[in-house]
Amino acid sequence: MNIVLFGAQGSGKGTQAEKLVATFHCHHISSGDIFRDAFEDGSELGRVAHSYIERGELVPDDITVEMMLQRITQPHIARAGFILDGFPRTIAQAKALDEGLAKLGREIDCSVYFDVPRAELIKRLSGRYICKAHQHVYNVRTKPPKVAGICDMDGSELYQRTDDQGPAIEKRLDIFFSETIQLLDYYRAQNKLLHVDGNRDIDEVSADLIERLKKYLSR
Ligand SMILES: [Zn+2]
Repeated sequence: MNIVLFGAQGSGKGTQAEKLVATFHCHHISSGDIFRDAFEDGSELGRVAHSYIERGELVPDDITVEMMLQRITQPHIARAGFILDGFPRTIAQAKALDEGLAKLGREIDCSVYFDVPRAELIKRLSGRYICKAHQHVYNVRTKPPKVAGICDMDGSELYQRTDDQGPAIEKRLDIFFSETIQLLDYYRAQNKLLHVDGNRDIDEVSADLIERLKKYLSR
């Protein structure tokens, strides 16, 4: 079973990916992990990708796609299936992924879109704080610390990353809702789209998603 998850930052797709892994025993592949691992391994591709990230630029599609395909085709992952999270981000990447998989006689079985209204995403993302000592993550709305501004685990001060402040959040959401959202049409045209209401609590979303995926995959 090969699945693509997409949704804006704050839509909960990373959390849902972990739940799907526990249910379907496949591998969770996130683009962030791929870039980090490739850099740590010291591979040529990883080095090139890192040079873009360091300059604050997007890693070009051909490099990203090749890194993802290398991971996907590792035998243990190819056997168990995979859940992609954070990739593809654009139609160009989705096409390159389909072409790469086709050459291997594989394909994406299903894509899942986690639909959360922009206003709710902003609320979720702007509530994020992390601790100075160990980067423990809190959210003033969904997971507040026992004492405001202080980490429960180590007593260190909580702060908000620049990434989680208003303008940075707006910019990331702008990119998502102008580019990545086009994947809706791409996968709908292939009849491979599950549209999930992500504006519910985590357990409700995952129960609904797992039931629908089981039905979908047995059709
Ligand atoms: Zn902490």
